[in-house]
Parts: sequence; C-alpha cells; structure tokens
Amino acid sequence: MMSRPYNFSAGPAAISEEVLAIAAAEMLDWHGCGMSVMEMSHRGKEFGQIHAQAQADLRTLLAIPEHFHLLFMQGGAWAQNAIVPLNLSRGETVDFVVTGAWSQKSTKEAQKYCRAHIAASSEDTGFTTLPAPATWQLSDRPAYIHLCSNETIHGVEFHELPDLRALGCDAPLVIDFSSHVASRPVDWSRVGLAFAGAQKNLGPAGLTLVVVREDLLDRALPTCPSAFTYQTVAQHGSMFNTPPTYAIYIASLVFQWLLRLGGIKAVEARNTAKARCLYEAIDQSALYTNPVDPACRSRMNIPFHLRDAELQDAFLAGARDRGLLQLKGHKSVGGMRASLYNAMPMEGVLALVEYLRDFEQTHG
Ligand code: PMP
Repeated sequence: MMSRPYNFSAGPAAISEEVLAIAAAEMLDWHGCGMSVMEMSHRGKEFGQIHAQAQADLRTLLAIPEHFHLLFMQGGAWAQNAIVPLNLSRGETVDFVVTGAWSQKSTKEAQKYCRAHIAASSEDTGFTTLPAPATWQLSDRPAYIHLCSNETIHGVEFHELPDLRALGCDAPLVIDFSSHVASRPVDWSRVGLAFAGAQKNLGPAGLTLVVVREDLLDRALPTCPSAFTYQTVAQHGSMFNTPPTYAIYIASLVFQWLLRLGGIKAVEARNTAKARCLYEAIDQSALYTNPVDPACRSRMNIPFHLRDAELQDAFLAGARDRGLLQLKGHKSVGGMRASLYNAMPMEGVLALVEYLRDFEQTHG
C-alpha cells in the first residue's frame, strides 16, 4: 500500500491502516458469508458474533468490571449531555466541573432536565488549569458529578480521576471520556458512568459508547425516550433498536488491533511517549507556545499557537505539502491543534516535530 499522510484531526480521526486494510479485504464478503457487514441483519448470527466479540474485547481492553453494562448507542456524545440527566438526575441537582468547552456545553444542555450547579470552574485561567478536587464546592446531595476527563478543544486532561469518597461525597461520577477513551487505563472504582463518541479513538462516527454501573439503571425519568433509556438498552443487549452495525464492526477491529499492540498499558506508554515528544518540541522553540499547565496537559489533543499569527496560513500550507493533515485549531480558540490518538504512530509525531523545526528555521 502507498504510504498515507499523517492525519492529526480531532475527530472523526485517523484509523489504523491495519484496521482499514482488514475492513477493505472484508468489504464485499465477510468471512465467506456472501454479505458485507453493512448488509447483515443485526439479529442474524453473523452480526451477533461481531457484536459479542466487540463487547468482550472492549471489556478486556479497558478491564471493565462485571457490574458495569457496556452499551452501544447512537446520537453521539452530544446526545449524552441530555441522555445522562434524563437517566440519572431524577430532575434534581447535578454538580458540574467546568474545565473547557465540552463540560461547558454539557452543563448548558443538562439545564433543560435538572438543576445544574457549577461546583468548580477553570474559566478564570482560560481553561489552562484544572481546579483541585479539594476546592470543589459540591452540593449537599447531588444526583451525580459530571466532568469531561479530556477537553478536546482546550487540551486539558485529568491524569487521575478524582476520588469523590475522599471528598465525603457518595454521588456517582459521570465522565465524558470521548477524546481519550482507550488511550489509558480507567479506574472504574471511581466511575459511575462514562460515555464517548467513537470517532476519535474507537472507530467511525455513529457509535456512542456508554459504560454504566448496574445500580444506576433504576432512575430514568418517565419522559426519557425508550431508545435512550439505559435500562431498556441494557435489557436488550444494545439491540433494542438497530444499532450502528458497521461502526460497531470497525470498532471491533480497532479493539482487536489495540489488544495485538499489547493492551491498554502498552497503548498508554506509546501515547505518553508521543505527547512528550511533541510538548518538548513546542516548549523548546521560540515560535510555538502551548498555554496549558504541564500538570494537566492532554496526551491526546495538543493545541499550540504561533507567536506570529500571520504565519498560520503558511504553516498549514507547508504542513499539507509534507503530508501532515488537519492541523488547524478549533475555531473557538484559533491556532493549531495536533490530535495524537491511538492511530497516530510515533513516526507521524516525529515528522511533525521535524516540520516544526524546519518551519521555525525558515520563518522564526
Ligand atoms: N465531548 C467531547 C469531549 C468531544 O470532543 C465531542 C466532539 N468533539 C463531543 C463531546 C461531542 O461529540 P459528538 O459530536 O459525537 O456528539
């Protein structure tokens, strides 16, 4: 296969070439059954096999305990901003930790369904820090605490999830882990529910992953749509209605690829090394800056600015010429952003670092 460019998109994002090649080979005829995965009944034995394998492999990969249900849903992570309060809030108070654009959007959306209380916010630092859990102003009896464990736009990541019990709070923790799911292990003892859109680290858009603790299935509001009621989806093994079958199939190939890489610890080590390499190049240069506190820098989404913003178009055009794609930052913060999801190899990061140096030499 011809070598492909390196794609730094924040999502939908690059998928491992190995996975794409398997999907291409199996496109017309999956394992000799005469059908493409797209053409199969979701209730047939062939898709049943793919679905069961995907569930089992993801459970193994992320070491998800038995008392959590693993749901494959639709609607994206955005829809979960409404679906979570419909299922868990009972219309009562929910505490939000606001650390960037995505937790901000979650708070606003949830306000339609519950009382949203902002327990902590890092807006005063331009979302470049994380408020220490000991400083959070939690409500008396929140239905749950919501946070975004990796802010895709601002590039901040909780390297460790908070221990709510140590804060004297027994409410469940809900995390939006869309942009770093499957990039590192998760401490499930600290989590009540985790959700993620698939299109960054798990596969194509269209699939939404929800991992929910068994005891949280009993509290949905009666107005919650059936297809979005966790208990209903769980009781039907994610087959209450037609699931996004092709997206699940590609995700299952991604899970198998991650297991072949050595599992989540090995994947985390790769990601740590990649991020360190890029942050070092940014920090050592006189042209590029990253504003985020090093203690909470994301390993997945690395925003950076050129000190001379006039050079931005030339930077992006030069990057494209070198096969370094989709480096433009989110429009709300400007600048550049390199997303280093699992499918970005170290070679791609080294190619970007080399380009950063060359561009600085000619334009710095
Ligand atoms: N949460 C986070 C952290 C995200 O990065 C995104 C998408 N970029 C969303 C939620 C929204 O996801 P979707 O577009 O899949 O609904």
